[in-house]
Amino acid sequence: MPVILDGKKVQEAIQASLKPRVERMAAGLRPPGLAVVLVGNDPASEIYVRNKVKACRQLGIYSEKHLPAADVSNEDLLFLIHSLNARPDIDGILVQSPLPDHLDTDQVLLAIDPAKDVDGFHPLNVGLLVANGSAPRACTPAGIMKLLEHYSIPVAGKRAVVVGRSDIVGKPVALMLLHANATVTICHSRTRDLAAECRRADIVVAAIGRPAFLTPEHISEHAVVVDVGINRLSDRADVERIFVGDAEKLAALESKGSVLVGDVHPAVHPRCQAYTPVPGGVGPLTIAMLMSNTVACAQRRLGLEGGC
Ligand code: NDP
Repeated sequence: MPVILDGKKVQEAIQASLKPRVERMAAGLRPPGLAVVLVGNDPASEIYVRNKVKACRQLGIYSEKHLPAADVSNEDLLFLIHSLNARPDIDGILVQSPLPDHLDTDQVLLAIDPAKDVDGFHPLNVGLLVANGSAPRACTPAGIMKLLEHYSIPVAGKRAVVVGRSDIVGKPVALMLLHANATVTICHSRTRDLAAECRRADIVVAAIGRPAFLTPEHISEHAVVVDVGINRLSDRADVERIFVGDAEKLAALESKGSVLVGDVHPAVHPRCQAYTPVPGGVGPLTIAMLMSNTVACAQRRLGLEGGC
């Protein structure tokens, strides 16, 4: 039977270990502080932000939301970021992506104080990741590493194939696996014979953004499969085709109007060694690592041990 890598459980373990640290800081000095900036009103981003703020509340981390209108100017957004950089009570600044097209995402990321860059996207922190130095790490990839660690999945010496080369998932997780001594291959849309590359892997990380894209022909039976993809299906024919004979999924489609599927086809699940479900796999860890980065940035800024 394959092992289900339960991200919720690991999230709870990570957050339980953070709670006493937060309590000690709050009692001695002040709680860590996170500012979340959400431009416009993209419904998916609103849900992500709500979940992040909720996690802060549960842990006792101070959080505040900034909601500039969708047509905010680059200049005004940069002004907001500079003002958050200057705030002593704010340890982490997160600008929810994607930003509207008229805004300069690179300039916005560069404007965030690297010491408050809880997403780990600032070029300085990306450079420190490449050099394996100490810095906030991108949350989703860092969460994947925690998940593998939690389930004692060996990484050193293993063949890892990462499908996807984005700056927020594919590239950083490939670097983290490399630093953990895996032999890493990065695949993308121009890879020839993706199935053959993936079949050689002991660990497959799928970060593609295409529903149920990796099928049993891509995955060997001994593989650990980490599915980062979050794809929403609202068409009944798609749900029936992917989740063959799954009455629960059809009922969920009826009641909610959509169901989620990862980048890995559900037919892979019974045939691999271990896998992350969608939802409930990688997603919860992204939030847990955001909390962890916020606490670590606060500790560092306050000169306490355990900073990033
Ligand atoms: P991007 O769109 O930025 O990157 C997708 C990558 O997949 C690209 O590198 C692309 O290759 C590659 N790709 C696309 N088509 C193919 C193909 N046919 N064969 C091989 N590779 C292909 O996506 P993200 O990395 O931002 O996100 C990936 C998925 O993860 C999405 O579903 C997203 O929603 C989800 N996600 C989930 C998170 C979580 O917390 N669980 C957090 C972040 C993302 P190329 O570079 O050549 O175009």
